[in-house]
Amino acid sequence: QMYNHCFQKFGLDYAYLAFDIGPERVGAATNAIRTLHMRGANVTMPCKAAVILFLDKITPAAKAIGAVNTIVNDNGVLTGHNTDGLGYTQNLRRHGVDVSGKRIVLLGGGGAGSAITVQAALDGAAEIAVFNRKDSFWPRVEAAMQSAKAAAPACNITLQDLDDREALKCAIGKADILSNATRVGMAPLENESNIDPQWFRSDLVVTDVVYAPPQTRMLREAEAAGCRTCDGLGMLLCQGAEAFRLYSGEEMPIDEIRALLYA
Ligand code: NAD
Repeated sequence: QMYNHCFQKFGLDYAYLAFDIGPERVGAATNAIRTLHMRGANVTMPCKAAVILFLDKITPAAKAIGAVNTIVNDNGVLTGHNTDGLGYTQNLRRHGVDVSGKRIVLLGGGGAGSAITVQAALDGAAEIAVFNRKDSFWPRVEAAMQSAKAAAPACNITLQDLDDREALKCAIGKADILSNATRVGMAPLENESNIDPQWFRSDLVVTDVVYAPPQTRMLREAEAAGCRTCDGLGMLLCQGAEAFRLYSGEEMPIDEIRALLYA
C-alpha cells in the first residue's frame, strides 16, 4: 500500500507485489529480478542473509550487518542495501535528534539491533552499549558486534548481559538515547518492558523498534516521565522511505503515508 500509493502519486509505472519464497529459491528469485527487468525488491526473513550470495554489489552497512533488505537493479547489476538502520537514524533525525557524538544504550542485538548498531556507529555515535539476554541469540550478537566494531572502529561498542540490572541502570544514567530492539513490547510480551520507569530522565530520548502495538509500555512510561520518544512505526516508515528513494529517486511523504495507513 505504502509503495503503490507513492508510485501513483509520483506517476511511476511500477507496481509492488509480494512473492512468497523460501531461502532455497532465493538464487532463482534473484535471477528473475534481472530476467524480468524489475527495478528492485525488498527481502524479508528468512532470506535477508541468504540473498547476499546472489548479488553483484553490497553496501558497507549491509555487509557489516550481514543482511540485505533492499535490492536495486541498475541494468542487470544488483546492489544489496540494508535500510533498517537508516530507517532508525532517519526517524530520530525527524524528531530532531542526530546520533553523531551520542551515547546510546541499545537493548537487543538481533536483526534490528545489529542494523541499528552498524548504522549508528557509521553515523558517528560515540558509544553504543548493547544489552542482550544470554539466550540463544548471544553468540550471534557477539559476532554482530565484532563486525560492527570492524566497520566503525571509532565507536566504542560494548556487549553486556541484559539481566545485569545494575550495569544497565548505570549505562542508562550516562546515556543520551535508550533504544529497545528486543521483542519485548510486542505480542505476546505487549505488557512488558525491560526498563524500570524510575530510570527515565526528561533529557533521555527513548525509542522502540516494536511497531505493533505502536505505543509500547516502555514508550508510554517514558513519555509519562517527560522523555522525547520515537516509535517503531516511524522507523518502519523511514526504512521504507529509504528504499523508495533508492528505487525512484523520490522522497516518500512519510507523514501522509502514516496518516493514510495508520490513522
Ligand atoms: P530477532 O529475532 O533477530 O531478535 C530478537 C531479539 O529480542 C534478540 O536480541 C533477543 O535476545 C531478544 N529477546 C527475545 N525475547 C526476549 C525477552 N523475553 N526478553 C529480552 N529480550 C528478548 O528479531 P528482530 O528482527 O531484531 O526484531 C525484534 C523486534 O524489532 C520485533 O518486534 C520486530 O517486529 C521489530 N522490528 C522493527 C523494525 C522497524 O522498522 N520498526 C524493523 C525490524 C524489526
